[in-house]
Amino acid sequence: MVKCPKCGNEVIAPVKTWTVSPRRPAEGAAKLMGIFECPSCKARFRTAVKLEEKAEETVSIKNMVERIKVIKGELMQTLKNLREKIKTLETERANLMVEIEKLKKAAESRVSALESEVNMLREEVKSLRELLGYTEEKEK
Ligand SMILES: [Zn+2]
Repeated sequence: MVKCPKCGNEVIAPVKTWTVSPRRPAEGAAKLMGIFECPSCKARFRTAVKLEEKAEETVSIKNMVERIKVIKGELMQTLKNLREKIKTLETERANLMVEIEKLKKAAESRVSALESEVNMLREEVKSLRELLGYTEEKEK
């Protein structure tokens, strides 16, 4: 990671890298140079790349953090959708319960209507028997 010479912002990874071999062995090992672009001020600058592996590690960690953020966002969306679905289903269940209650009441009133009709018919049968001279005792 290097600092932008213009604004001091930290730049994580180089845009381009190349190796510079020393002219003489006394100058030390080959250097890795890189072109960096500042993400905040867009300034481009050239500098030696230090701890390149570490920079890559930071990049992959940053990518991972971004990925986790995306996954978290997706999960939040899924959770939101599920909550909405649950809400819809709960409303539907409540409506169905009302419908069932209505049907139950309708069935109950039908049953009581039939019961009173049956009772009326029984009364009619009883009075007809009396008219014809049949008694309850004879019936048994
Ligand atoms: Zn900058």
